[in-house]
Order: sequence, then structure tokens, then C-alpha cells
Amino acid sequence: MDIIVLKKSITAKELRHIVKKLEGKGFRANVSKGTERTVIGVIGDTSKITEDEANAFATMPGVDKIHRIIQPFRLASRDFKSNDTVIRIGKTAIGGKKIPVIAGPCAVENLPALLDIAKEVKKAGATFIRGGAFKPRTSPYTFQGLGEEGLEILAEVRKKTGLPVVTEIMDPRDIDVILKYADVIQVGARNMQNFRLLQEVGSHDKPIVLKRGLSATIKELLMAAEYIMAQGNNKVILCERGIRTFETATRNTLDLNAVPVLKRLSHLPVIVDPSHGAGQWKLVAPMSKAAIAAGADGLMIEVHTNPEEALSDGEQSLKPVKFRALMKELKAVAKAVGREI
Ligand code: PEP
Ligand code: MN
Repeated sequence: MDIIVLKKSITAKELRHIVKKLEGKGFRANVSKGTERTVIGVIGDTSKITEDEANAFATMPGVDKIHRIIQPFRLASRDFKSNDTVIRIGKTAIGGKKIPVIAGPCAVENLPALLDIAKEVKKAGATFIRGGAFKPRTSPYTFQGLGEEGLEILAEVRKKTGLPVVTEIMDPRDIDVILKYADVIQVGARNMQNFRLLQEVGSHDKPIVLKRGLSATIKELLMAAEYIMAQGNNKVILCERGIRTFETATRNTLDLNAVPVLKRLSHLPVIVDPSHGAGQWKLVAPMSKAAIAAGADGLMIEVHTNPEEALSDGEQSLKPVKFRALMKELKAVAKAVGREI
């Protein structure tokens, strides 16, 4: 039910007009006259009222403001589905008691390097290999990724290690080639509001990691998830990866508030990427621990055997030895909050 708060100065005629308008749309109006305020409780399936319609009501004569009880995101909301969504991918799941870790380099560089990294992260307990074949780089002159060759390398590494593959899509035109190789498709921060891309990945049933945009609010992230779900794909994993703030000491500001806020508003699993969130490898361990303590359902961590030589994001990549040590520490944190790694 939505609530329309009326102005003190509302006339009887204006009130009748609002009630008639609501009834015309198939709702019942429960007018409640208080000593301070008169409000209308709108009875019926108000989830069908679009934001535009609600805004039109808000500007009608006699209306002070509108409280929407139903969130503008529907399929993604807890109101729609109260129990946590668990997304199963091969032998692992995201959203359950066990916390999966997605690890690997920023970009796929070559087969031997990726295989090395994959073996290391698997031994340490990671359950997914990540690596971009299509890279959204700030400069067009830096390494853009290997394209389909990178996807083939990922598939080869999956064959050798059994680790399912998480890789990024940047362009709806690449959907067929990505579907051929990926187990989970990543929509990166820069494309969080690429609505055509969201609709494209929404019309297939591959799980999607949806990363929060650089300047996106939590509501905008959930509306982006809604775009995917509205096409029929409910397998959306939300990812907090840091946002732009005035702070320059770190690459981004990792918004760990987003974890419990998203878990309250939505039934979808929420993972955290402390590598992009902080931008410095030394901060990855503390922020990973904090993410799990805050209730994250998974982590995405960049790992590289030779970060100094990495073709992208070396400065925020952990060496395997550090990743292994972190995974051990994370077990204790997970246990403390009733989870497992
Ligand atoms: C990445 O995962 O390598 C990446 C580019 O992430 P983001 O979209 O969060 O910047
Ligand atoms: Mn990266």
C-alpha cells in the first residue's frame, strides 16, 4: 500500500478528485483524517503504479508528498521474495552458508600464466577462476584483453582445474561467444547502467555478477538487477566494488554499508570485490575480512603470480602466497559469523 499525504489546505474538491483518480485506476482510497494531517491509504496492488504515475500523483493539487511502501525494484526486492536466493553453479553455490571465493587475474594474459594462477587459487580454496578477456580500460592505448582467445584459455583452464569461469561482457554483440565459454557472466561497474546489455544478459539463464557502478546508488544497483530479472533471468549476484568519493588515498571507497543494506532490501546474494574497492594489495586482506564480517555471501579477489608484470591491476593483485594466507584467516572470520569458507 502506498500512502498519499495531503496538504493541510486541501479542499474537499481536490480530495474528491484524487480519490476519483485512484478509483479510476482500480484502487480503493482509505481516507484517514487526523488532527494534524489527512492521508490516503491506497489499497490494491500498488506495485503496478509506475514511478511516473506516482510522480503525477505527487504533483496533484492538495498533495504534500507520497510514501511508496513498495520499492521500485520488485523482482529483486525482499518484499517479493523473503528467503535468500541461492544460485547454484556446478558444485558450488552463492548465497548459502558457504562463502565462495572468485579469484584470478584482472585480465587473461596467456595459458601458462592463467593455469598457474588457477592451480594456486584452487589449492588455497577458491571455487571460481576469474579473468577478463574483454577489458574495460580507461585508456584505449592499454591492454584491451585477448578477446575470444582469452575465453578459450579460460575454458582450457576450467577443463584442467574444474574451476568454473567468471568473465566480463562489455558488448551485447559478444553474448554468443561469452555464453559459449562462461559459467558466470560479469557485468562490470562501467556497464551497470548499460540497459541494452542488461536486457541481453537477462534473456539467457547464465548467472550474472552485476558490479555496482562507480557512482551508482544502492537503489540504482537494484534497478539494474531489475532490468536483468525483468527479462526472466533471476540469477543475479550483486557485487560491491567500491564507489567514487572525494577520498584519494584509495582507488575507490569500499562501501561495506552496502552489504547489510542490500541484504535487507533484496533476496539476491551480495559479494564484495576488495581488490577494485581499495586498489592496493595491502588493503585486500583487511577489507576481505571486513566484508565477510559484514555479511557478504562471497568475495572476488584479484590474484597474479607476478603482479609487477601484470598487464592490468597488478598493484591490487595478491601473490598466491598472500592469497593462501588470507584464505586461512578468512576461515576464522567466516566461522565467527556463522558461515563457512
Ligand atoms: C574487473 O573485475 O576486472 C573490473 C574491471 O571490475 P570493475 O568493473 O568493478 O571495475
Ligand atoms: Mn581489474
